[in-house]
Amino acid sequence: MKPTSAAIVTVGSELVTGLLVDTNTAEISLALARAAILVDEAVSVPDDSDLVSATLARLIANVDLVVVTGGLGPTHDDITRQAAARALGVRTTRDRDIEAGLNQWVKRHGDPRAASQVLSQADVIEGARVLPAVKGTAPGLVVPTPRGSLILLPGPPREMRPMLETLSREWGDESEPPAILRCTGTTESDVQLAAQDVLGGRHDIALTVLAAPGDVRVVLFDRGAGAGTLREVSEQVARAIGRACYSTDGSSLAETVLRLARVRGERLATAESCTGGLVAGALTAVPGASDVYVGGVVAYSDDVKTSLLSVPSDVIARHGAVSEETARAMAEGVLAACGADRSVSVTGVAGPGGGTDDKPVGTVWFAVSGPEGTVAEMRSFPGDREVVRIRSVAVALDLVRRSIEGE
Ligand code: ATP
Ligand code: MG
Repeated sequence: MKPTSAAIVTVGSELVTGLLVDTNTAEISLALARAAILVDEAVSVPDDSDLVSATLARLIANVDLVVVTGGLGPTHDDITRQAAARALGVRTTRDRDIEAGLNQWVKRHGDPRAASQVLSQADVIEGARVLPAVKGTAPGLVVPTPRGSLILLPGPPREMRPMLETLSREWGDESEPPAILRCTGTTESDVQLAAQDVLGGRHDIALTVLAAPGDVRVVLFDRGAGAGTLREVSEQVARAIGRACYSTDGSSLAETVLRLARVRGERLATAESCTGGLVAGALTAVPGASDVYVGGVVAYSDDVKTSLLSVPSDVIARHGAVSEETARAMAEGVLAACGADRSVSVTGVAGPGGGTDDKPVGTVWFAVSGPEGTVAEMRSFPGDREVVRIRSVAVALDLVRRSIEGE
């Protein structure tokens, strides 16, 4: 029977002490959403056998499907298998096939003193189906429960993922993946309004807006609309948002910029001061960037702005390093130095120090230089150093996008 309720449990003291950010829950939730299985609860529990056992006993009694990650490995803190057996009131038995495989592994890799610990991974909860380890050594387990099943998966994401993929195929593809519109240079509330105007009172598509500095995402979930309608409506929402929406297929701003430049056969370069290479980093993080992005200069000091980007020293002396004139000269300088078709420059006061009355922290000048000439723009960002830098990257890339698109 298809589960109608689910819970996710991540086991690990590192998760509840702030040493590690839980990413497994997100991956499992998305997989369950694809199968149209609703998650009632997601919880992290330390490596404490009694707590894990009590949590599992409670959830097994209340939801159809309980998915657990972590604590299946060979170390002393890996207690999930035994805790789950206790919660179910059943025993574990040694699986001879798994044990034989693990013995091979110990011979090849392990310290023989750890053998008994490694072999504990061959303990299978009575009645369970084994999900063989594709990466790593810990197998997963699917155990029937009175309401449905309890699934134990290893903690390391790369070990967990192949098993989740197997399970996802079994759960089926019941709902469309959400449509994701990505926007920048707008606000959460503006895109929300635009989307709501299009959606009206319809109940077959659910709307979520996610905002981070320089990045607003509109997520449209299929609640019965079907693939065709979801696509149509998402395109209407994109039109309603306007130029601020740069992608309807989930691609990032850097990917969008590279794609636009590639289509036009343009080569890009960057000159960065306060972002220290983050714009170059965003572009080069995209596989295949090399056919478009030629390079850039991190010109943090005035001397480097002058020596490598040919910014005249009297321009810096007269107008300052954070100024329209310097931003223009940086963009033009790097265009020539790199032999690119289009360039972008960033120079600003990221803070916390360095602000003045007429150039407070958050003042950032940008320039884009290309076949149509050079244009410069100033932004005043609120926020701390990190936020100013992140938002500067988004604006720099967005200015390149808009200049290629011919705004
Ligand atoms: P192992 O055989 O590696 O011990 P395990 O199933 O016992 O596997 P844990 O010991 O709980 O897993 O976790 C091992 C590592 O896996 C953690 O240190 C962490 O790097 C990663 N990990 C565990 N749980 C999560 C999670 N929820 N999200 C992201 N990473 C996780
Ligand atoms: Mg472990």
